[in-house]
Amino acid sequence: MTPSRQRITVLGATGSIGVSTLDVVARHPQHFEVFALSAHRNIDLLFEQCMRFAPRFAALELPAAAAELRTRLADAGSRTEVLEGPQALIDVAAAPETDTVMAAIVGAAGLPPTLAAAQAGKRILLANKEALVLSGALFMDAVRASGAVLLPIDSEHNAVFQALPERFERNPAASGVRRILLTASGGPFRDTAPAELEAVTPEQACAHPNWVMGRKISVDSATMMNKGLEVIEAHWLFGAPAEQIEVVVHPQSVIHSMVEYVDGSVLAQLGNPDMRTPIAHALGWPARIEAGVRSLDLFEIARLTFERPDFERFPCLALAYQALREGGAAPAVLNAANEEAVAAFLDRRLGFRRIAEVIAATLERVRALPVDSLDAILAADGRARQVAREEIRNRS
Ligand code: NAD
Ligand code: MG
Repeated sequence: MTPSRQRITVLGATGSIGVSTLDVVARHPQHFEVFALSAHRNIDLLFEQCMRFAPRFAALELPAAAAELRTRLADAGSRTEVLEGPQALIDVAAAPETDTVMAAIVGAAGLPPTLAAAQAGKRILLANKEALVLSGALFMDAVRASGAVLLPIDSEHNAVFQALPERFERNPAASGVRRILLTASGGPFRDTAPAELEAVTPEQACAHPNWVMGRKISVDSATMMNKGLEVIEAHWLFGAPAEQIEVVVHPQSVIHSMVEYVDGSVLAQLGNPDMRTPIAHALGWPARIEAGVRSLDLFEIARLTFERPDFERFPCLALAYQALREGGAAPAVLNAANEEAVAAFLDRRLGFRRIAEVIAATLERVRALPVDSLDAILAADGRARQVAREEIRNRS
């Protein structure tokens, strides 16, 4: 831990990860200070957070939301300054006063400020997996060029990070790593008959058995696209090819992932399913700090079980592997089509099983050109969304 207080910018402060981050931060006022908070629409919660943590800045993309927050904060005597517009998020992420950026915006919307943090050489706590799926090569190049420190928050990747050697250089072979084993809970429909999946509702899809999360990632867990995005995320974070990344269904969510070495050793990280553990790990790294998470009671759990993933029941997982192997813009297209399909499902405009169909059709139709700049990535993302919306309309 650095002797002075780490100054933190939280992107997506009002979300599930943002709230857990501030919970851990509040336990260690001597170590952390909040420099900026950002959110999208939840002004009530952002107002409360600003009153409690007194950040220098609050950043909102939408001017109307910013104006409302500004008035409320001024009336309450707060000295937090409210910034607005897409550039505001980039500015607080890259500000010289920011040491650490928690990237916890959901979806592709998080890419510009997260990439800006990478370019500015920040310590980045990466929850926003979509940003990395979208821009993997570009993002990792920016991290290397600036000397940014990238710490994974996704529980699986945080577990892998903890099980890798201290001086791991994104080269599994050089470290004697044979396989990365990503565990998956299997979501709420692990045992549901495929025919019954036809009629499942957003409420059922969002009722995750082990984790409480935002709605988008909850649906991703139900389709297992979440695990697919995580395979791509692991590829970029750890430099492992698709063949070295395996998915293991583990319904108890106690083992958060594993690394197998060439000597046959398998190292795992275990814990209760509580995101404050990976958040505290990354906030404190390389030190360990209290997270407020209760001890793991192995006697209560008693049994850990494992299953092979069912690629037929969960076609999204196969589509993600396919996009990773194809490379170029394919992961960006996969992600964009998924975001559109999930939004349509949550809006009751698309059936649950049509989500994978929309993504497969979009991957077929949008050519996977190489993507070597942010503009090229955003163009692929935009084109894929257009095609995905057509495919959704054809099925609703
Ligand atoms: P959430 O929906 O609870 O919160 C999303 C946050 O992003 C909110 O603060 C919201 O204001 C902000 N946001 C949404 N749209 C925005 C936009 N267009 N511009 C700016 N801000 C916007 O989501 P979450 O569950 O906290 O997930 C956040 C990220 O972390 C996702 O990428 C998710 O995949 C990842 N993640 C979450 C968990 C979890 O347990 N929740 C676990 C692993 C990874
Ligand atoms: Mg995860």
